[in-house]
Formats: sequence, C-alpha cells, structure tokens
Amino acid sequence: MSRFLSSKFDNLEPYTPGEQPKTQILTKLNTNESPFPPIPEVAEAVRKAAETLQLYPDPDSTELRKQIARVMEVDPDEVICNNGSDETLYFAFMAYCDSERSAVFPQLTYGFYPVFAEITGIRFREVPLKEDFSIDPADYYDAEGTIFIANPNAPTGVPLSRAQIEDILQHNPDNVLVIDEAYVDFGTESAVPLVEKYDNLLVVQTFSKSRSMAGMRLGYGIGSKEIIADLNAIRYSTNPYNIDRLAMAAGIASLEHDEVNRAHCRTVMENREYTVRNLKELGFEMTDSTANFIFVRHPEVSGKTLFLRLRERGVIIRHWDKPMIADYNRITIGSREQMDILLREVREVLKEELQ
Ligand code: PMP
Repeated sequence: MSRFLSSKFDNLEPYTPGEQPKTQILTKLNTNESPFPPIPEVAEAVRKAAETLQLYPDPDSTELRKQIARVMEVDPDEVICNNGSDETLYFAFMAYCDSERSAVFPQLTYGFYPVFAEITGIRFREVPLKEDFSIDPADYYDAEGTIFIANPNAPTGVPLSRAQIEDILQHNPDNVLVIDEAYVDFGTESAVPLVEKYDNLLVVQTFSKSRSMAGMRLGYGIGSKEIIADLNAIRYSTNPYNIDRLAMAAGIASLEHDEVNRAHCRTVMENREYTVRNLKELGFEMTDSTANFIFVRHPEVSGKTLFLRLRERGVIIRHWDKPMIADYNRITIGSREQMDILLREVREVLKEELQ
C-alpha cells in the first residue's frame, strides 16, 4: 500500500477469489463455474453488439430487464441489472446498512459479506449455524439489522425452504432481508415469488453459474419498485453504465434460450447425485447440497491433504484453512467426465493415504 491510502482502510482484508490457474490444470473444480460453454446464440449476439461499441450502452438496461422480468414473472421495474451479483450485494450493503443498522449474516457463508461490511464501514453480527451446518430461521427473528443469507448457503450448499424465508420476513417487518440466490437454479426453491408480498425482500441472482457466463459479469436484483429505486440511486451515483453492450446482448440472448440453460442445470444436478453416491461409497461425509458444488470431508484424510494431493494430480478444488471447516473441501460439480477424473484421482489419493 502507498503512504497515501486512507487510514479508514487499515483493517481491510480484501476478498480472495478462488484461484484461476495460469498453469495447465486438467480439472478445475474450485470456483463453481459451469462446465458448459454459453449457448451459441450468446457468442453471436456478443459479436454483433461489438459492432456498436463506439456508443454508450442503455443505462437502464431496458431490454435486458424486460427479459429477466419475463423469465422471473415480475415487473421490469422490480429488476436492477448489475456488473455481477457481487455489485448488487455491494449496493445493498451501501443502501441498507449504516451506523444504526448493522449487517447480520451466518457465521459461515459467502466470504465477501464481511469484506463489504468492512469497506462500507459498518458493524456486522455473525450468527452461528446449527451443528449440521443448517440455518435456523428463529435465529434471525427481530434481527436488528439488514440480513444477508445465501440460499443455498455457501460453501455448505444447504438450503432454506421458501416457507422458512417467509418466516424470517414475517419476523422482520422493519429490516431488509437480502437472499443471495447465486446457486438457486440447481434445486433450491427461489424466494422471488415472495417479492410481491414483502416490501423488505431483495433477491439477488446471477448469470455466472446456471447460465455459464461467469466471464461476462452479469447479475441482477429483484425486489419491490421502491427497493429497486434505492439501488438505482446508488448505481446512478457510482456507475450508470454498469452493464456494457456485450453483457447486455449476451444476457438477452441467454434468456431467449433459457430452456437450454435449465437443461444444463439438470445435467449438473444428475452429476451431483452421481458424485455424492460415489464419494459416500468411499467413506466421505457431506452436507445435503442443492448447489452446483458439494461440501465434503473424509474421516481419515484431512481436508488439506486431500486438497494438496489432488492438486498434484491436476484436480483443483477449494480448501479453506479456517477453524470450523478445515476438515472440508468444496468441490464444484462439472461434467460427467470431470467427475470421473475427480473420482479416479480421489481413489488414488485414498489408496496412498490409507495404506
Ligand atoms: N454470491 C455467492 C454466494 C457466490 O458464491 C458468488 C460467486 N463468487 C457470488 C454471489 C457472486 O457471483 P457473481 O458476481 O459472479 O454474480
């Protein structure tokens, strides 16, 4: 850091994204990307949009919001588009947290939440999970702050039902609840239908996972018109052209063929069941994940050992050296071929470690 950086950032510990290896890694299962390329219509739409890059994009993302509204069965005025759902979340921290309203989120969750709290200079309260890593809605009653919950949670993959989310909403009429649905399309009930009924709900989704567009940086929020107006005020005060022409075209094309994305999600879910079954046969224990990743431990091999041995063998998964979860690894669910490579290499590692 230079000597000029404001002292307000003295305690800032930036978020560490999962590794994007430069060396040749055969099987990359560490950042929950889709194993499928985006649908061909997306590449064609991007190529076409590139011909008009001399012009600024539509700052209201009108066409894209219309498409999102159609697919999600909401009004276009209930949608905001963002440069990745990380941006939607950041705006929500800016809009709904301050010195009087702290942020409240699970003790184990998406690692960006404490970073957003730090950079916006607000306090946060971390709520412990139950022993099985699930969230107890009652722990969030009268939360006295803005609640952020990833559903399914990360890195555990454990979901809340829509009824449980409604329960939290009903017990927090004066607090905003942000439901981060980055991984919702792999078998979790979405909270979007609750938006019509609750003015204190913001649902955040992304094109990164279920629509194979992590490289494009496109996310969105769905909430009451008033909530969306709040977030737009922040957007217009920071970066009105946050969705570029390429991302806008890609998003529209992707949603025009959303049934293909959904079929890809179903394949990932089948591959998840296949991987779970095989890992359980090898003695692994895991949470009941409804995400495109699983969270696993082996009673006889440490999380770190498994992570390092697999890495040597060209399979990269995600490990955190943190007290509660050091025994665990998060494994992204990829194609059947990728999962077969993972299972083959895991068997080899177990053979070596357990002999
Ligand atoms: N929420 C959760 C729980 C995530 O894991 C991620 C991906 N790292 C995001 C939000 C952000 O996704 P993106 O910015 O790619 O939309």
